[in-house]
Amino acid sequence: MEAVTSTTVVPPTHTQSVSGWAAMDASSGKVEPFIFKRRALGAEDVAIKVHYCGMCHTDLHFIHNDWGITMYPVVPGHEITGVVTAVGRDVAGFKPGDRVGVGCISASCLDCDHCRRSEENYCDKVALTYNGVFWDGTVTYGGYSRAMVAHQRFVLRVPDALPLDAAAPLLCAGITVFSPMKHHGMLDCAAAGAALGVVGLGGLGHVAVKFGKAFGLRVTVISTSPAKEREARARLGADDFVVSTDEKRMKAMARTLDFVIDTVAAQHSLGPVLDLLKVDGKLVLVAAPDRPVELPSFPLIFGRRTVSGSMTGGIRETQEMLDLCAAHNIACDVEVVSTDGINDALQRLARNDVRYRFVIDIAGGQASL
Ligand SMILES: [Zn+2]
Ligand SMILES: [Zn+2]
Repeated sequence: MEAVTSTTVVPPTHTQSVSGWAAMDASSGKVEPFIFKRRALGAEDVAIKVHYCGMCHTDLHFIHNDWGITMYPVVPGHEITGVVTAVGRDVAGFKPGDRVGVGCISASCLDCDHCRRSEENYCDKVALTYNGVFWDGTVTYGGYSRAMVAHQRFVLRVPDALPLDAAAPLLCAGITVFSPMKHHGMLDCAAAGAALGVVGLGGLGHVAVKFGKAFGLRVTVISTSPAKEREARARLGADDFVVSTDEKRMKAMARTLDFVIDTVAAQHSLGPVLDLLKVDGKLVLVAAPDRPVELPSFPLIFGRRTVSGSMTGGIRETQEMLDLCAAHNIACDVEVVSTDGINDALQRLARNDVRYRFVIDIAGGQASL
């Protein structure tokens, strides 16, 4: 298929032609080859040859304009790994040949309280890696493309121990569950035998199970699908598995969990899961159902429980997570697809037919790097 070339007005600083894959409008639900411009390398920019890009549910939402905020053409992708090809004159810490990654964030104000604490994800001027607006006013394009230009502040080092394909989804799925675990002290309470519940066993949930086990927690998977029990226990090492519609088991599990990460993107009630928490237990929502989740008050007030949310993570903790993954031998379970297979993979992703994350082999089989 012939690539469409961007007709968007671009500033004169955007001189690098890059080929990628974009959804051109909301109607097709597909991406197609697309040629566009990225900015010339700035003093603090890192140029990256993209090797792999994970496929996140968010990509589907933007392709279909589910949230009404898509700016077409949209080049999705925020789970990007690759190799540095050039660096600007003021870049410290990266050089050509380095293995790197880019996650969900491409810019933030760098000056607010959140940015100073490296919580760039909560900066109110945060620019996302795609469908965001960068400092120069241009719309950002993501990792379904052969090359990225990223400000050094938002580039991560991928440790040698992590394969570039299986590491890619850590940059969204991984940090999305790691950040609330760290924030709520779950990484510090392993010695106390703390109990973690993971609701939903998909791209986010499977990494949450791996983190929980690596950090010494007792992990229970809560799922609507009995078919996932074997894999949850045998492959991912979960200690327990509960089918959320099994009222008897759910009742027997009441007040046993310290912390729950809810990764389910479909509309559901939090009540049954809240009952599994101990008094003062915490539930964190990390997925984004299109419609409000149901939050009954009784399970909240009878257990003084807390419900909160969390969105991706800051740059410093993303690096910390990658380094811990290397030390604990954690990576995502991925299905690698070729660039010809992106649209088929998008259709399967919409049906949750993936174990557990699709990763696009953008560079074509250079996994050995
Ligand atoms: Zn994502
Ligand atoms: Zn800021």
